[in-house]
Amino acid sequence: MNENIQLKWRHDIHGIGAFAKTELAKGSVVGEYFGEIEIKGDHCDPNMRFQTSIKLGGEVIGYIDAVRVGSWTRFINHSCNGNVRFEPRRLGNLARNVVKVNRTISAEEEITIDYGDSYWKHWKEKGIHCQCGEASCRLNKAVSGSPPKKEQYGE
Ligand SMILES: [Zn+2]
Repeated sequence: MNENIQLKWRHDIHGIGAFAKTELAKGSVVGEYFGEIEIKGDHCDPNMRFQTSIKLGGEVIGYIDAVRVGSWTRFINHSCNGNVRFEPRRLGNLARNVVKVNRTISAEEEITIDYGDSYWKHWKEKGIHCQCGEASCRLNKAVSGSPPKKEQYGE
């Protein structure tokens, strides 16, 4: 666990969120998305809340699945104006996704990431829309349900 990050219960809709304890500088790497590697084709369930893609040359080659194992980064909630992003890195044969800060994050601010359109496509089909509350929210067409809850955490 990054000492500059804390997990807190946010509210009934978003569940647990990750918050900055101190100011986080733009461009800094605050964590890594850990999990089991799934090669594309094996497992591609858009329902997966704790899954992020691994890209190589712009193409998705697999996924990191943090359902069974993972770090605090799997508790980062979605926002259409996320203040961090995943950035793919290669370390020899290992594909990794680090969490990089998009803009300065203030102490106590929630850390958020844009889950992307493919994630939301699945939920929109079920009538569930984004409730990130951002003025620039591009996904909140109608509030008719709750976005998926995060599961309980076990750090
Ligand atoms: Zn939104």
